[in-house]
Amino acid sequence: YGDYNRKIDYVFKVVLIGDSAVGKTQLLARFSRNEFSMDSKATIGVEFQTKTLIIDNKTIKAQIWDTAGQERYRAVTSAYYRGAVGAILVYDMTKRQSFDHMVRWLEELRGHADQNIVIMLIGNKCDLGSLRAVPMEDAEEFAQRENLFFMETSALESTNVETCFLTILTEIYRIHA
Ligand code: GDP
Repeated sequence: YGDYNRKIDYVFKVVLIGDSAVGKTQLLARFSRNEFSMDSKATIGVEFQTKTLIIDNKTIKAQIWDTAGQERYRAVTSAYYRGAVGAILVYDMTKRQSFDHMVRWLEELRGHADQNIVIMLIGNKCDLGSLRAVPMEDAEEFAQRENLFFMETSALESTNVETCFLTILTEIYRIHA
């Protein structure tokens, strides 16, 4: 039989957060459908995407939530965080401000989310290396201090996208299974 008939062992909700335009929607499009678009807001209003994957011979349905533009109005509500077992904090490595705002997003997340939520820090757009505004060491130091996983990704070039989601989901599985 194929994957279609497998029963789902776990459903894990993971939320994407971070400033507008850092690439959250494209990271999700890359992970869930292997798609990318430069003209991004086609998916506005979509609440979440799912992808089923196998970890440790268990079928895991990842339900990944995107703010769908709400972050522009600071309207990310507690409903968004409810039930989340993982969070991906995304900044744009060519925009220092989006990294500086990670402190606020983390504060917001820790205020709303479950105690043992698994958090991953992502510096996206690493294909634009010549425009780097956030040294890797700064992000590593922040991640270490705050006890976060850290990776740089490119939704455009697919760099580390699969790895990022697999890493956070594997850690979630380790904690919850
Ligand atoms: P969101 O507001 O955080 O969801 O950001 P989007 O996913 O809408 O992306 C904002 C813009 O950045 C769009 O024009 C995307 O095409 C572009 N973008 C997203 N990810 C990358 C990436 O990895 N590399 C580059 N060069 N552009 C990206």
